[in-house]
Amino acid sequence: MRKTVLCALVAFAGAATHLNVHAAAPAPADLVYRNGTVYTVDTRDSVQQALAVRAGRIVYVGHNAGAMRLAGKGTRVVDLQGRMLMPGLIDAHMHPQSGGSRLLNCSLDYQPLTVSQFQARIQACLDRDTKAPQRRWLVVVNWFQQGMQPQGEAATAALLDVLKTARPIIVRSSFGHSVLLNTRGLALAGVKRDTPDPAAGKIVRDAGGAATGLLEDAAQDMAMGLLPPLTVAENLAASSAALDALCRQGITSFLDAWTDPETMTAFATLQRRGRLTARAHFAVLVKPDKGSARAAVAALVKQRKQFDQGPTRVLPSMQVRHAKLFMDGVIAAPAFTGALLAPYLVDKGTAAQPDWQPGASNGPPGYFSAPALRATLAELARQGIDPHIHADGDRAVRESLDAIEGERITRGGKGLRPVLAHAEIVDPADYPRFASLDVTPVLSFQWAKPAPDTVGALKDYLGPARYAAVEPQALLLDAGARVAYGSDWPVDPLDIPFALKVAVTRTAAPSAGEEFAGRLTSQPGMPRSAVLRAITMNAAYTLRQESRLGSLEVGKLADFIVLDRNFFDVADEDIAGIRVLQTVVGGKLVYQAADPGAAR
Ligand SMILES: [Zn+2]
Repeated sequence: MRKTVLCALVAFAGAATHLNVHAAAPAPADLVYRNGTVYTVDTRDSVQQALAVRAGRIVYVGHNAGAMRLAGKGTRVVDLQGRMLMPGLIDAHMHPQSGGSRLLNCSLDYQPLTVSQFQARIQACLDRDTKAPQRRWLVVVNWFQQGMQPQGEAATAALLDVLKTARPIIVRSSFGHSVLLNTRGLALAGVKRDTPDPAAGKIVRDAGGAATGLLEDAAQDMAMGLLPPLTVAENLAASSAALDALCRQGITSFLDAWTDPETMTAFATLQRRGRLTARAHFAVLVKPDKGSARAAVAALVKQRKQFDQGPTRVLPSMQVRHAKLFMDGVIAAPAFTGALLAPYLVDKGTAAQPDWQPGASNGPPGYFSAPALRATLAELARQGIDPHIHADGDRAVRESLDAIEGERITRGGKGLRPVLAHAEIVDPADYPRFASLDVTPVLSFQWAKPAPDTVGALKDYLGPARYAAVEPQALLLDAGARVAYGSDWPVDPLDIPFALKVAVTRTAAPSAGEEFAGRLTSQPGMPRSAVLRAITMNAAYTLRQESRLGSLEVGKLADFIVLDRNFFDVADEDIAGIRVLQTVVGGKLVYQAADPGAAR
């Protein structure tokens, strides 16, 4: 059996890198892949047979004979046996460091769990580490809070207090909007009966006013602030685990959508060790609450100076060219922090006869005021930095588009490449504005499926019209938008084939159960070619890499993957089962599946 190559930059055995026997003839290719279904994502989405690589770049795409003409003595020739080869995947919005560190934590794996399963899994984590000091927090991650079984089961400290440990426990929801503590944890966090809710946060209380153990939004900080920051070694382990996960999924470039110097230091360290196996882009948070836009952007400019490594080259490197801005929170319950144009609905009826009517809240005011956003965009344009704006609700989207429209007519604003991330609800009047203002929506396709957080509550508190247009992937596409993909890992597991399947079908996994069968709303899915373009060329565009990456064309960098099946030939539901057999970055093999049927 072949051993799996774990995310390392490995030159292909026997590859010739500097052979040039005849001065007149061009040097032979290092690599030729032939007999394949080479899906190029060029302007016509053309499909070719073969591809040749020299010095990390694509030197030929076309038919077998043409590629073989470039083969020389030291050329490694791979027979694809008809398999699909396509550009490396580009994830335009993820959180690799928290994703990687969660792989190292006690994880509930996003599973819907009964109370006893929930308890058993956490007890197992405690039992694995019996030598831990009694004061050390057990951090549990990837808890699918809305999926607790039976539906509506309220999680409280009591569920954790029965576990055999004296340690404080914190269980973090995968959504990132709530944590559950045991009673020891509540005591350490200083949460008492008379503790007031912090601004923008909530201590969930029972009918008698006692804290139940759940802390929401900003209240999470009362406990999160007590966790020691990751050590240098833990940061390295996290980024290393992240890169490992990426190469297995065929991701060859990514944007860390909210980074910090510790994370970039870890990636830079791995790079020095020859272990940076994906092209790394980083967005630094820019907040509105500074004296001026220039002051708000200053920290980003400083970090760019420290960590940005200049233009893209063959070997993976680091770029810091993006600002992360938040315009709102999330439309999901119980947060309701997504900024909406019309109010959230509230139930004014009874349990027997619900009556959903507009309530008092349409979410918070945009986190940036209109003038603050304009000023920040202008400053970013001046600094040559692109804005990556979190905008989840339709009002956050509208206000962001308005500000971008205002800046587009300025000299600096013309050149910006703004992204709106998430955009779960967009007012139909704004659909065409993505194309006309050249704004890229970066969407997490896997959200467009029936799930506890979509078909249940969402339908009630948005009302039928807004619900019908939720996750408007194909609607934006039809309006001419350049839709790109971002996984938002680890909000969900990193499972690219599943996400691409949901984009096409808007259905959950069959294992999700009967209550989540069928499609999310009657909206169409995305055409398959648009799905692949979203995670290649369109994502490349958001990173200003479209002239170097995102498609298989002569002169571009040789970032590509080999799949076990043809994405276009399998049945809709089977897209989720497609596996990556090889990942190649800059002409170097960074991942080879252990699968005995793998291309070699
Ligand atoms: Zn995110």
